[in-house]
Amino acid sequence: MRHLTFLFLSVTILGCKPNSKSDLIASISRIDTLRGRIELDQNVLEYTKYDSNSIALTNATVFDGKGNPAKENQTIVVENGYFKAFGQNSEIDIPENATVINLKGKTVIPGIVGVHNHLHIPRFPFIGEIASKLYLASGVTTIQTCGAASPQQEIELSKKIEKGQVIGPNIVTSGPYFTGKGGNPNMIIPESEEQIRDTIRYWTQKGVRWFKVYRNTSPKDLETIVDEAHKQGAKVTGHLCSITFEQAAHIGIDGIEHGLNSASDFRNNKTFGICDGSREYMDELVIDSEEVKNLQNLIIDNNVFLTSTLAIYEASVPERAFADERTLNVMSPILVSEYTDRRKNFDSMGLKDNIRQKRLKRIMQFERQFYKMGGTLTAGVDAGRHVLPGFGDQRNFELLKEAGFTNQEALKVMTANGAKVLSNPDIGSIEVGKKADFVVIDGQIENSIRNAALVFKDGYGYNPKLILEDIKGKFVTE
Ligand SMILES: [Zn+2]
Repeated sequence: MRHLTFLFLSVTILGCKPNSKSDLIASISRIDTLRGRIELDQNVLEYTKYDSNSIALTNATVFDGKGNPAKENQTIVVENGYFKAFGQNSEIDIPENATVINLKGKTVIPGIVGVHNHLHIPRFPFIGEIASKLYLASGVTTIQTCGAASPQQEIELSKKIEKGQVIGPNIVTSGPYFTGKGGNPNMIIPESEEQIRDTIRYWTQKGVRWFKVYRNTSPKDLETIVDEAHKQGAKVTGHLCSITFEQAAHIGIDGIEHGLNSASDFRNNKTFGICDGSREYMDELVIDSEEVKNLQNLIIDNNVFLTSTLAIYEASVPERAFADERTLNVMSPILVSEYTDRRKNFDSMGLKDNIRQKRLKRIMQFERQFYKMGGTLTAGVDAGRHVLPGFGDQRNFELLKEAGFTNQEALKVMTANGAKVLSNPDIGSIEVGKKADFVVIDGQIENSIRNAALVFKDGYGYNPKLILEDIKGKFVTE
């Protein structure tokens, strides 16, 4: 039965209806050719443990990424970089030529789809190569960069990864950031409508599909950005401040970043269209009030997604802002000393900054409520401070759990929902016909997905330990 489903699925993708069995077989061989997976260069292949075209993983506990609870004793067959079969051990035939991997005691989750996953951090405008290694080693197989400090370099890196020349996740690139008067001078502060339209056309012609608006963007500029981006088949997301969530949803923005922390709708003494007012609303607001629920319903009705970035917020909470050992191992001496200074600072404050701790809890509550109301919540790392690419995505899982999400819900946020907002039906869940991007975790998932034993992308099984070994002390240097 499963096989039959796969046949029809394949044929639907090709866009023709089969008339006979031979047509079907012809379609299948055509799709196998179409879907011939990429070849990896030798220097990338060295980091893989499994490179066979045909792999069968048996006895696994599997989360499919669609929000379903885990299923035990599952077999997954991967061929040519795609899932060929998936089901109970007893139901699935293992191809004769397949490399068989027994995953008894291990858990499989879809590859993480991070949608706020930059290739830059403050002061370092492009850290693409090392960030890409960290992402992949942490099980992040697709990223949307959510604003680029070096868009051209992002595009070039994404092509190299696509061709199998460099280790990394699939990269969905972004254009340069837009902001407005008084905003960050490294971003585009539009002088005219024409400039906005030209910029968007320029970058979409180069393959960019996402634009990010930053805090000072004016409502009028957002209208132009959304209009032109949508005309060019691109999407717009924002770290908002001058514009409220309500206004942005009405204007037609696709996504909103950071949740409650940037919900200027509730700022005290705020001027329309200007990034002013104060954040104290976060200490007063009743999250399950009608006021907040109405706003969340409006966001949902307008098909706007929210991106959760809990790990980076946690890094500003003094009693929680601690780098773990693996992070300290990867960070360069410069970043370690900056971290140590920040820690000293926090400690000398006498600690117990309960304000930010309480705000974190409210941000969590806001996101949990939005998800339960039917909103599309996604997640991303927004790396900075000691929150590293990939490691921070894994930390997000733990924080979503703390926020009240079940394992399968947190995973859905981090996988299938990411694929949904990227409009990529090929990734985000473990389903026959989709790309074989997935992570094998040692043991059962309790509250963590840190113990990645293998990361599969395009059907190749990478050894994360080898990748991490290689970048010890190297994140990042000037
Ligand atoms: Zn960001």
